[in-house]
Formats: sequence, C-alpha cells, structure tokens
Amino acid sequence: MKKIEERIQQIEKTLTETHIETEKQLLITEMKKIGIEKLPYSYSALKNFIDAETMNFHYNKHYKGYVDKLNAALSKKKHGDLDLEKIIKNISRYDQTVRNNAGGAFNHALFWNMLTPTPKKLTGDLYQKIAKQYGSFNLFKKKFETVAKDRFGSGWVWLVLTKKNTLKIMSTSNQDNPLMNVIDGGGFPLLGLDLWEHAYYLKYRNKRDEYITNFWKVVNWDFVNKLYEMKTKTKLIESTDIRNVLGQDIKPKFCSPDESQLFRSIRENPKVKSIYQNELDRILKDRFSDFFRGAQQDEVSGFYGYEKEGARSVLSNINSNNAVFCLFVKAVNNQIDKLGQPEKKFNFWKKEKRTVNEIKRFLRAIDYFKDEIFNPSNEEFVNIVRVLLVLWERGIKTEDETIKKLENYFEGDAVFTKTSGHGLKTDIKGIDTVIELGGKKLNAQIKPYTSTEVYDNKIKIDSKSSGGEYKNVDWLIFYHPKQKNILIFTNDPINADVNFIFNKDSLIHEIE
Ligand code: MN
Repeated sequence: MKKIEERIQQIEKTLTETHIETEKQLLITEMKKIGIEKLPYSYSALKNFIDAETMNFHYNKHYKGYVDKLNAALSKKKHGDLDLEKIIKNISRYDQTVRNNAGGAFNHALFWNMLTPTPKKLTGDLYQKIAKQYGSFNLFKKKFETVAKDRFGSGWVWLVLTKKNTLKIMSTSNQDNPLMNVIDGGGFPLLGLDLWEHAYYLKYRNKRDEYITNFWKVVNWDFVNKLYEMKTKTKLIESTDIRNVLGQDIKPKFCSPDESQLFRSIRENPKVKSIYQNELDRILKDRFSDFFRGAQQDEVSGFYGYEKEGARSVLSNINSNNAVFCLFVKAVNNQIDKLGQPEKKFNFWKKEKRTVNEIKRFLRAIDYFKDEIFNPSNEEFVNIVRVLLVLWERGIKTEDETIKKLENYFEGDAVFTKTSGHGLKTDIKGIDTVIELGGKKLNAQIKPYTSTEVYDNKIKIDSKSSGGEYKNVDWLIFYHPKQKNILIFTNDPINADVNFIFNKDSLIHEIE
C-alpha cells in the first residue's frame, strides 16, 4: 500500500509540473479506487445453485454498485483509504454510507470466490476442526442452514474463526461483515452466504430455504481452506517480521529523564493508573489476540511467542511501564500528524492537560491507531519493544547481582532460591527470591533504586520501576545498580503508590 501511495505522490508531483490537469485528475482518481473483483466463472456456470440472469444482475448491478458508491464516498474525503480490508476492520471511523458500501464490496468480493462450478470436498485441518467442534461435518451444515434460515430480512450467514481460534456460525444484517470492529463477537470470515433477495429471488422466489441448501453444491472449499491457512499464517508472519527487525543491532531510544519523570508523576494518580493499565490491556488483547494465552499451570496469563518463540513476551509488560507511556505519546502524536486532520495532539507537559479525561482521549487514540502503532513495520513500536527488552535484561541483572551480594553478606547462613522468571506465577506475585534464614522461609522482592530521602523518622525510596503492593512478600530489597549497596526493609511501607515510604524501624539491613 505504501508503494502505491508513493507512486501517487510521485505522479502528482510530475503531473503538476507539466500542468496536465485533467489527465492528472483522472489518473489519480483511478489509482485511488477500490478495484472490482473479477468473477472467476461465467454467469451460467453455477446453474445448480443460481441462474445466469441473477448472477449477471448480482455481479454487474448490485456488486459493482457497491464498489462505485464506495469509491464516490471515499473520494469526498481528503485522504482516501485504499485498503478495503483495513476499512472494514476500522469501519467505526466511517459513516453509514461507507459502512454499507464497503461491506457490500468486501462481502461480494469474498462471496464470488467462495463459489465454484467444480467443487471439491473439504479435507485437512479445517475439516477436522469443524467436525470436532460441531460433532460432524453434516451437523455443521445443519447448524449453518438453521442460522441462515433464522436471519430475518437482508443479511449474510457466516462461518468465522474467532479471536480465540474457535469456529462460530453467525449472521450479520445488511452488508455488515464479522470483521467489522462494530460487530460484537465477530471474527475472521471463512465462509459466507448472501441472504439478500437480490441473490436468489428470480430463481427461488419465496423458497429461500431451498437456495440455502443448494449452496452446498457450489462451495469452493479450496478457497475457504486458503482463507483459514492464511489466517493461521498471519501469526507466523508477524512474529517473523518482529524477530527480523529486532535482529538488527540498533540501540533503543528512551525518553529523556525529564520526560520519564513527567509520566511517572501522571501515573501517581491511582485513577489514571488504573484506567491506563486496564484500557491498554484491553487494546493489546484485541490487537495481539493471536499471542495471548490464559493462565496455565505454572504460567500466568499474558502474551507469549511474539518476539521469541514459546517465551513470554515483553508485550505483557507494556501497560505497567512508564518509559513506554512516554513513547506512546510520541507515537500517537506522529499518527495524528500523518492523518493531517485537525485532531488535537497530546501535550501532557501542560499541567491543565493532565486530567483523567485527557488520559481517556489518549487511550481512545491508541485504540484508533492500534493497527498503525502496534506493527513490526512501525519503527516507534519496534523501539518500544527494544526498550522493554533492555529493561527486562536490566531487571534480571539487578536480581542476580543483589542475590550474589546477599549470599556473601549472610556468609552461608542464608540459602537463596530464585523464583522470578518471565511468566512464572511466583514472579507475578512479586516474589523474586525465597530466602531460608535461621529456619525461616522469607519471600522477597528485589527492586532497583536511585536515591533515598530521610525525614521525620521516615525513609523515602526513589525507585524508578513502578511501585505497588506486594501482598505475598516479607522483605522488600532495594539495590543501587551503580553504588551496589542494598537496603532491606520489612514489607510494611507507609506508602507504595509510586515511591516507597517506610518508617525508619522497617530498615533491617543496610549493606554497603
Ligand atoms: Mn448480494
């Protein structure tokens, strides 16, 4: 798509220079259009399902009508989106005219290919999946027919692959498609049947049920299978893409200390923190559903197998990381720039802008741009992943150094067992190490810190990683990565929102 845009820009430039105004307009309009999908057989080829006259009208009048009206509607906008599937996925950005006609264009383009005069039987993974989920292939067909017959008025019946990788039979009204982001419980369409009167009325009149059962005589299972395979492969392609770019030796770019401080302070508001984390979590689960896994025996839920095969992904850390919050603001503002529309950019440097409402608007913007931002071809996103990987490495280094130093300090009186690990349940509970000391087992959390402040018998610890409560922890251990000294507190802070504040009595070991 980028290449076409570049070509358009180039042509626009060249043609402006040569002042061929009409030709220029024609050429540009043509290139910015959504194309017509060619009918892969003759009008009469599917005669045991539909007659030639219906096919002719359906294709030439109805289908081409949707495509024409869609192009007319898009050309009124300054920045026409060329990718039909992208329009469908982001349909909430458009008005009802685009929704109807983009749906009509997309549904029919799929539909023509889902039919064939020379059908073959479905075999392979998809066949197994259907038989397993519906009891048998015939039971699946019966269920599909029932849902089709139950559709009142114009619409479609679909077999979709859901985000949870299960199959689902559903119907949509008018020209809606299960891929549209306005459809609850939608998914990726594998098979669809047009239930509009224009699709069958000349041949079947009021006998819509007969049209529905005859559909099986012409289903192009080869194409359906290709859609299924394509969908399963997208996951593979995406992780290959991100691994390729991460393989390049490029250093991550962090926000400046001032910027980082600003975003830490914004998240000091517990309401902001919870809205930000929860909403970002929802957006990520939606965007990276292929990589999300629920809780397993020893693993907590999260994203797996994205930047490293089988391993817990740093995508799981995105919503609780301040460094990333700051990078997101830059990424979103860049997208707003590209849009060229008068949407207000985000400026959290202005104190009056640091409101819950502005955070909510910011999250809506991340959601709106999620396909553009969270994309291996977006340098800013790749940088975010790099930043998270570096922070993760640093975390491991801090823990290892701390444990080593503590082992020396306790001179064999204490035995340390490391329990942290990306994805381990003990890690998420906040337990980095279990210490056996004097016949007792103590759970400890290890955190890096940068400075302390002592006042009124209290000690404030400035720890760059976000604070929080650690319910299952006995000791909070703070390690200074540069000065290499360690402070051990009992887990009873007065405050733990962002910085930790303890009573002086809670400090039980100070190791230089
Ligand atoms: Mn139709």
